[in-house]
Amino acid sequence: MEKNFPLRELNTFGFDVKARYFQELKTMDDIHHLIQNPEFIQCRDAINRVLILSGGSNILFSNEIYDGFVVYPNLKGIETLEETDKTVMIRSYCGEVWKDFVDYTVAKGLYGLENLADIPGKVGAAPVQNIGAYGAEVKDAVYQVHTIDLTTGKIKVFSNDECHFSYRNSVFKAPVRTRRATSIIFAVDFILKKHSELKLDYGNIRNYLINNNITNPTIKDVAATVKTIRAEKLPEVGVVGSVGSFFQNAIVTNDKFLELKGLYPEIPSYPADNNFIKIPSGWLIDRAGWKGYRENHVGVWDKQALVLVHYGGGKPQEILDLMKKIQDSVKEKFGIEIRPEVNII
Ligand SMILES: Cc1cc2nc3c(=O)[nH]c(=O)nc-3n(C[C@H](O)[C@H](O)[C@H](O)COP(=O)(O)OP(=O)(O)OC[C@H]3O[C@@H](n4cnc5c(N)ncnc54)[C@H](O)[C@@H]3O)c2cc1C
Repeated sequence: MEKNFPLRELNTFGFDVKARYFQELKTMDDIHHLIQNPEFIQCRDAINRVLILSGGSNILFSNEIYDGFVVYPNLKGIETLEETDKTVMIRSYCGEVWKDFVDYTVAKGLYGLENLADIPGKVGAAPVQNIGAYGAEVKDAVYQVHTIDLTTGKIKVFSNDECHFSYRNSVFKAPVRTRRATSIIFAVDFILKKHSELKLDYGNIRNYLINNNITNPTIKDVAATVKTIRAEKLPEVGVVGSVGSFFQNAIVTNDKFLELKGLYPEIPSYPADNNFIKIPSGWLIDRAGWKGYRENHVGVWDKQALVLVHYGGGKPQEILDLMKKIQDSVKEKFGIEIRPEVNII
């Protein structure tokens, strides 16, 4: 266990933050030892300050000291569990880097994760907010999720249904909101398909393929296309601080959508669950005039208004202030409350 551990390299916003206690966990034994550690027990039971941190690509520390216990699960390993004519089941442990894992499945010609190429972070975090991009969500490839309780050490396996996945949400996200980290996801089993089921209709994927004369795309073409489009639109991790999409897309009723469509006929939209309509928050923020805005050390990415950036040397509060200004201005212009996608800790 380390004390006053610097987290600057472990949050992609790149804020200079420290953890009062920090421990990396490489094995299941490490987890069992952790739950007997007096400092850990104190942080868990007395002050309720335990944070599970993986790649830190979806976390905004609101203070410069995390006055609690940061647990860094980093178990490694990828195993094929089962293979049929149509599918392959693969287990990945939580510490594997997500984008490397996607590349591994794409190289094997297994369908299901190619649209999620190049999302930063680790495998263990992928189910937490049901990561999604380019018309795909990880929930469609998750078979089950293995967790270990941080009080009892008991293992619980969640079937896909028990994960209660929805848009950028799952049963694992609730403890984050209430700041009660109760269990670690230590492994995820994925079910991937051997036969082509490419999703090309979201974002610019199809246009990009056509423009590059790719008429019969392979899984590798799709993953490469997603990577190229992402690199054009998103800040590079380690170069400009961000957490990707800072806000969730707005989910509105059909009536609200029709009202806005009357005012802004060009408003983009996608169907969402339960007859709701998804409106890209990036469009709302852009239309409210924020794209490319900069104030001291922070700003709004000029190629994608959904992304708030930290140019270095700033404080978390600057991002929080900018977030509030943007939320207020979108609410005033469109009557929509946009919510952060990032976990504010
Ligand atoms: C440039 C950029 C682009 C991005 N693009 C996308 C995108 O297209 N789609 C998308 O969905 N997200 C995107 N993100 C957000 C982020 O990459 C994902 O949410 C990712 O899954 C976070 O992984 P992480 O390992 O960094 O998790 P962290 O940020 O460390 O943690 C995220 C949350 O999960 C919890 N957690 C982490 N690991 C575990 C575990 N093992 N067990 C239990 N709880 C855990 C944490 O407590 C925290 O609440 C992007 C981020 C950046 C910086």
